[in-house]
Amino acid sequence: MVASSILGFPRIGGQRELKKTTESYWQGKVDVEALLAQGKQLRETNWKLQKAAGVEIIPSNDFSYYDQVLDLSLLFNVIPTRYTKYNLAPIDVLFAMGRGLQRKATDSTPAVDVTALEMVKWFDSNYHYVRPTFSHSTEFKLNTEAGLKPVVEYLEAKALGIETRPVLLGPISYLYLGKSDKDSLDLEPISLLEKILPVYEEILSKLKEAGATQVQIDEPILVLDLPESIQSKYKATYDQFTSNAALPELVLTTYFGDVRPNLSAIKDLSVAGYHFDFVRVPEQFEEVVEILNEKQTLSVGIVDGRNIWKTNYSKAAAFVEKAIAKLGKDRVVVSTSSSLLHTPVDLANEKKLDATIKDWFSFATQKLDEVVVLTKNARGDDVAKELEANAASIKSRQESPITTNPKVQERLATINESLSTRKSNFETRLPSQQAKYNLPLFPTTTIGSFPQTKDIRINRNKFAKGELSAEDYEAFINKEIETVVRFQEEIGLDVLVHGEPERNDMVQYFGEQLEGYAFTTNGWVQSYGSRYVRPPIVVGDVSRPKAMTVKESVYAQSITSKPMKGMLTGPVTCLRWSFPRDDVSGRVQALQLGLALRDEVNDLEAAGVTVIQVDEPAIREGLPLRAGKERSDYLNWAAQSFRVATSGVEDSTQIHSHFCYSDLDPNHIKALDADVVSIEFSKKDDPNYIQEFSNYPNHIGLGLFDIHSPRIPSKEEFVTRIEEILKVYPANKFWVNPDCGLKTRGWPEVRESLTNMVEAAKEFRGKY
Ligand code: GLN
Ligand code: ZN
Repeated sequence: MVASSILGFPRIGGQRELKKTTESYWQGKVDVEALLAQGKQLRETNWKLQKAAGVEIIPSNDFSYYDQVLDLSLLFNVIPTRYTKYNLAPIDVLFAMGRGLQRKATDSTPAVDVTALEMVKWFDSNYHYVRPTFSHSTEFKLNTEAGLKPVVEYLEAKALGIETRPVLLGPISYLYLGKSDKDSLDLEPISLLEKILPVYEEILSKLKEAGATQVQIDEPILVLDLPESIQSKYKATYDQFTSNAALPELVLTTYFGDVRPNLSAIKDLSVAGYHFDFVRVPEQFEEVVEILNEKQTLSVGIVDGRNIWKTNYSKAAAFVEKAIAKLGKDRVVVSTSSSLLHTPVDLANEKKLDATIKDWFSFATQKLDEVVVLTKNARGDDVAKELEANAASIKSRQESPITTNPKVQERLATINESLSTRKSNFETRLPSQQAKYNLPLFPTTTIGSFPQTKDIRINRNKFAKGELSAEDYEAFINKEIETVVRFQEEIGLDVLVHGEPERNDMVQYFGEQLEGYAFTTNGWVQSYGSRYVRPPIVVGDVSRPKAMTVKESVYAQSITSKPMKGMLTGPVTCLRWSFPRDDVSGRVQALQLGLALRDEVNDLEAAGVTVIQVDEPAIREGLPLRAGKERSDYLNWAAQSFRVATSGVEDSTQIHSHFCYSDLDPNHIKALDADVVSIEFSKKDDPNYIQEFSNYPNHIGLGLFDIHSPRIPSKEEFVTRIEEILKVYPANKFWVNPDCGLKTRGWPEVRESLTNMVEAAKEFRGKY
């Protein structure tokens, strides 16, 4: 019979319970037992929810206190030595690897000072994973200190009477997504495959001993362009697993893209089944089913794990039918396209959404029902009522006037070369900017946000709830701006920012002011660790009814003689960090956003704010996973939408942009034609990578310190790092800044870190 499954469920809790408890633990307000109890409770809630919804194949080990890839590194003892010398509890090792740790000595414990591992985007999503970091001394073994997480969680569910299917990231993806440590740059992670396989076999056999009959083994890299040297590893690896009778059955799972170019690598395996993402790439169906032998099952990923639109039942059911026609009912599983990690927990938590619009959405909890309804339907059970209600919602959205704005569409048609090109080229603009701002060598700046203190959050909430008047709120924000401005002046930063105290989030803030957007009150999605975002939802054509940031920036500029950077979120990032429409292309949505932002940029300039940063941290994340035409098309419209936003200004107006947490290729950002860019760089050790940026034509700030970590780099540390970069990177294009915004940090560490950074920059001014 057709079965139902999901690949993973959000672990953060409907009320962000995990964040709250984790952060309390970090602050020393609750002990480790409280944190572990919170985790346990969330897992129980999630399993019971799935069980109650009628999902048959329920995942376990999809939970994590920080990141599921980091969990594996801890489990497999892939722990660089810098974390092992302090005798930390396993959970603290985990957090130290995830976010760094700096702790003063106490009577009983020594001082701790370790940086975090590198964190990068998970494929083309806004989730970040902690990159496994291997060295010649890496010794794979099961780290039993904290208990074997996959086994512990499997048994935990079993004790609740819930049979689960554990999830494990497969060995080839795990290695491929990792990197070699600074001291072992000659090491190819994949060369460690032979060494890691026994550890995989051990954990898999322990799962079987515990009672697990099947494991979901994720090999998401199969949707990337893989070199032959990686492709060729699949057959032997999975044969080794499937020929070992002590291991459970495996379902080889891929998501987010097209597997076809790597299909020959995974055919003829003896796995129990395969999972493919047919939401993203329905066209791969015909070819991928051909690799199944007559016993293998096909898990049909048909309920979107990445977006919030209701599944179109009639379309999805037809797809499942197609699979059944080919394979028979016993070999088809209805599933989500990917883990539901990327969707908010529960639509029922949304009390303020307009009822018409709300009826178009489906969050993780609702998606469980979707999977179950589609499964029942495939079995021939009566779900006529559900199908009918679904058809009505789909139709309501298709016909709704909310989604279209003729004025926006008319304006879109006016976009041409001149609307997306600056008046002069960079060589011409540069002297007029130098004349205007007269900045020193090694100019210092920050990326925009300053600590979002409790006080700021409280006042913003009060204002949102109507408990604070507009005047009082404005006075409060102005006071915050002033604090940040005075601080920057005091430590000698060159290009100032206003600190973004009025913004809850860099995308949500704009989404809430643009027409064509809907936003949630509880639709949180994990971005990394305890950082969650609440993506707004693009429901229709986007436009800007009025200025969004001018008031704050103008105020900030008015109280200082130093240049003040206006701060906007770019069109691609607005789009990527929203839930986008699925009825209109990404290109159209980005260009609409570009036009809306163009008005804002021009308004800022007219109001005297003439250094303007348009952040595009998500530009790399949106890059199609495979090389080819789709990728070059994307890069073209991404750059064009940025230029539409920024090209209406004078030569002397300095356009900045910022990118972070991705393996950015400098060639991808040239076409944006920004005067100055900043990128996160403090964890980039590879000199070749620095070299790549030295060819970048315009000016760059290569981020000098990790803003995810509370640790404070000393002035000497900055000096050493700058020297290292200067070996390959020219001094006359060198800006000095942190990796990213400082909103998640506390004031004490920001104060010290920035002071040290500025002092280091001054030292180099003397030398050059
Ligand atoms: N201007 C934003 C900030 O400083 C940029 C954040 C980001 O790149 N994610 O917070
Ligand atoms: Zn950033």
